[in-house]
Amino acid sequence: MKRTYVVTGAGSGIGKKTAELLKEQGHEVIGVDIKNSDIIADLSTPEGRNALPDLVAEKSGGSIDALIACAGVSAPAPITMAVNFFGTVATLEKLQPLLAKGTDPRVAVISSVASTFPYDGDLVELALSGDETATLKFAGAEEKAQLLYSSSKAALSRWIRRNSIKEEWAGSGILMNMIGPGLVETPMTKALIEDEEQMKGLKQMMPTPQGRFAQPEDVANLLIFLASPENSHMVGQMMYIDGGGEATVRGDTIW
Ligand code: NAD
Repeated sequence: MKRTYVVTGAGSGIGKKTAELLKEQGHEVIGVDIKNSDIIADLSTPEGRNALPDLVAEKSGGSIDALIACAGVSAPAPITMAVNFFGTVATLEKLQPLLAKGTDPRVAVISSVASTFPYDGDLVELALSGDETATLKFAGAEEKAQLLYSSSKAALSRWIRRNSIKEEWAGSGILMNMIGPGLVETPMTKALIEDEEQMKGLKQMMPTPQGRFAQPEDVANLLIFLASPENSHMVGQMMYIDGGGEATVRGDTIW
């Protein structure tokens, strides 16, 4: 059955591939991004976030069936908290009323296997308190730079665990889950993959037993399943899609 999907980050990489595959499957897709998209909105700003519900409602006719949140950045700067955590949370909260009117509504969010890497616990707590100004100021300290990406994804993952089970989400029939990709070959990771030194360190932190990195399509197919009616009973879960990296590194430690 034809469904209406909102895909953020649809201008590049995983979001772009997800939007393409959904369209090929005959669905209506409303892309959101700062570039190359149906709706141009900067999710790091209150203006971009606040404009979103009306712009989406106008294009969708007042309801949507699924939201796939891919927009993100990996800069060692506070913008990473602004987009990955606050921008994603604002997107989820502001589009919840449109999802509540949809059919078999689903939300699939891209977190990252990096959410299992070392992160700044104080920064995560501050982000979860909802104080964006204080969070971005705290995130601006030089020594935090290398922990910002993992912290943004750890905070986002915790927010999803906490909120997916609430009345507005699971209680309203909106099933929300997330995925944790390892390294995916996209414009975001091009420079990293070309940097031999950095890759050596990364491979130690995150081995890939499957023997290859993910392509955007690998990840898009999982997002599409999570956002489909066939995903009918999963709530608040993280699915790692990393060629075996998380299972290797964390092994028996979580059970
Ligand atoms: P990408 O850079 O190709 O795509 C990210 C998209 O987000 C871009 O189109 C960009 O314009 C958009 N975006 C950035 N800031 C925005 C803003 N302020 N407002 C609206 N849109 C904005 O990268 P990708 O690899 O496709 O990443 C997609 C998601 O997957 C991100 O959340 C990223 O953190 C996550 N992820 C990527 C990898 C990887 O290895 N590529 C691994 C784990 C998780």
